Amino acid sequence: MKSAAKTRHFVDHAATTPLRPEARTAMVENLGLANPSGQYATARIAKKVLEESREEIAELLGADPIEVVFTSGGTEADNLAISGLYFKASGSDIVVPPIEHDAVLKTCHHLEKEHWAKIVEAPVGADGRVDMVQFPEMSRQNTALVTCMWANNETGTIQPVEEIAKRAKDARVPFHIDAVQAAGHLPIDFHASGATTMAISAHKFGGPRGIGALLVRREAKLTPHNNGGGQERGLRSGTQDVASAAGMAAGLRAAVDTMAADNERIRGLTQQLIRAIMHIDGAIIHTSELALPGHVYASFPGAEADSLIMLFDAAGIDCSTGSACSAGVNRPSHVLMAMGVSEPEARSSIRFTLGYTSTQADVDAVISALPETVERARRAGMA
Ligand code: PLP
Repeated sequence: MKSAAKTRHFVDHAATTPLRPEARTAMVENLGLANPSGQYATARIAKKVLEESREEIAELLGADPIEVVFTSGGTEADNLAISGLYFKASGSDIVVPPIEHDAVLKTCHHLEKEHWAKIVEAPVGADGRVDMVQFPEMSRQNTALVTCMWANNETGTIQPVEEIAKRAKDARVPFHIDAVQAAGHLPIDFHASGATTMAISAHKFGGPRGIGALLVRREAKLTPHNNGGGQERGLRSGTQDVASAAGMAAGLRAAVDTMAADNERIRGLTQQLIRAIMHIDGAIIHTSELALPGHVYASFPGAEADSLIMLFDAAGIDCSTGSACSAGVNRPSHVLMAMGVSEPEARSSIRFTLGYTSTQADVDAVISALPETVERARRAGMA
């Protein structure tokens, strides 16, 4: 195996996808604009760009412009939605599947520890989907909110958000969707989804890092996190980053416009990768058929994920474990554990995610490095 490869192959698009040229242009054009809250002509220029960006995002996601609340990204949007809805509710149960991103799970745990919330788990099956047969009962009296992601960031598996929305509507319980992995990759219609709130993040679809939005129904009641100038419907005070908002809108427009063709091409590349992985002795694929087009999550039992990542890195391939890394210690994926995967298998899992810049050469590079990488990692053994 060659070391210190010069050409890099980026297969970690679910972590962040490269900035789209359209987003870069929009940002550069609008850098240095005034504070959009000012009462003079230069501020009005900034305000116009901000509001046009909001309108574009709303149109692309089936929302009204007033329902788009800019945040610093997906994490803040999830935090605002969950605690914001919780503090306005009369019930204290939060229905949440165990496969959610930490932005959701840790917010729920914080509310449980500090604010009397009761976490009610919505179980998932071995396929990584929320199991609607075992879905907990909800009521307006007891349930503060239900939350579920549109697609999982590790497996890519698409969740039954439509069915959950129906249950939430019947029980008159607010429903938050974390659509961070789905926005720009799947068609999204906020109004049709039945969600009360929905989190999105620009850097997952080719917009800039550090900006996202919470879509909030007009009639939804949320307690804001931060207090200040009352921007963003009073839900997210603070001077807005107009250039990033313009970049986010341009990135989303480009992602939506090319979505159908990109997804077909990406799915073809992903299928090649899956077939190659299935040729590796003992390999297990955790991504179900109903998944985002670019995700492949696989275990190579007997090989430590850290060793695999290091060896792929040396071969010029950027991939990830997909699970949370705390203080440099890789824990087995909580998503795989919730799916009933054993701890050793979960510790040998890595995630490849393809996106709009992925090429045949990227996939060929992974496929050619795969057998030797797995063999060497297995020789190194499990820690
Ligand atoms: N939710 C999901 C499903 C994610 O995949 C991520 C990021 O990986 C987030 C939330 C957090 O988004 P951000 O990085 O914009 O804070």
